[in-house]
Amino acid sequence: MGLLDALEKGLYRGEDPDALAEGVVRQWHAGNIPGTLDEALGLTLDEDKAWGSFGARFRLLLEWRLRGWPSTCGVCGKPIGEEDWAVFRKDDGSQVRTHLSCWLSETDRRKAAEVARLSNADEDLVAKFFRQAGLVAVRFSKEQMRAGSTPDFSVLRNGSSVGFCEVKSFIPWEDFDTFEADDPTFDSLSDRIHKAVSQLDSVNPDLTQLSILAIVNHEDAVNWLDLRSVLTGDFISERAERYPIYVDVSQGRIRAEKWRIDLYLWFDQGKSRPFMLFNNSDELRFRRACDLMGVNPVEVRSVAAF
Ligand SMILES: [Zn+2]
Repeated sequence: MGLLDALEKGLYRGEDPDALAEGVVRQWHAGNIPGTLDEALGLTLDEDKAWGSFGARFRLLLEWRLRGWPSTCGVCGKPIGEEDWAVFRKDDGSQVRTHLSCWLSETDRRKAAEVARLSNADEDLVAKFFRQAGLVAVRFSKEQMRAGSTPDFSVLRNGSSVGFCEVKSFIPWEDFDTFEADDPTFDSLSDRIHKAVSQLDSVNPDLTQLSILAIVNHEDAVNWLDLRSVLTGDFISERAERYPIYVDVSQGRIRAEKWRIDLYLWFDQGKSRPFMLFNNSDELRFRRACDLMGVNPVEVRSVAAF
């Protein structure tokens, strides 16, 4: 008899069904319980789907087995008929049975809200960095933003505009499922550069001011060297040897576009100081960008120019 069958019969009364289930899973993995895991847990196909695919709690499965499965959707309130279903965890932590379509839209909504929250925090982080560098980052007005695709900030020094800055959050789960490449990191970074260039170009088409892209990274496994690889096409070994293995990215869609950004700022999540990558393709603009950040072009050239 599987665990849920035993619970249904009233065994293990007073014990936590989820803790019991964890114990069975552990024992089964250790090889101490014969048969399949579903048999050990006593799950039907639907119960296995609710538990395995959607993380439904064992206590909930027991409730549903005793009282019958909910016949209406916990999101839209309409009946659940033959259509596919899911189990959704609400903000208060409770779990409800829903239409799969409702689960998808709620999951998307939650994801979008989290992306918006992180993006706002990232913009604040970059604005603060500019303030500490003696600059002022001013957001474009709502009207300007509605009128076209503007970047996030105009950058002022001593009251006059010296450049523009677009902030892009690098959140791996935001768009990894939309890419099919071997390493989605590079495609995501390249995609952000592409979008940022079009936003910066819309206000700085002749490059009369500096165009700056700030990327705020939320993935531990990614760092500014990946951005450098995307820009240069080179993998750099521990012995500082350069292998041009990423030229399909660096010479792809961003081949010409990447030179339209004077300065790349790479912030790792939780850090207030960025890595800076200076575009030194144009001597004059390179010097202006160095001057803006208060760094010596000679020192920068060997480490952070590309
Ligand atoms: Zn629904």
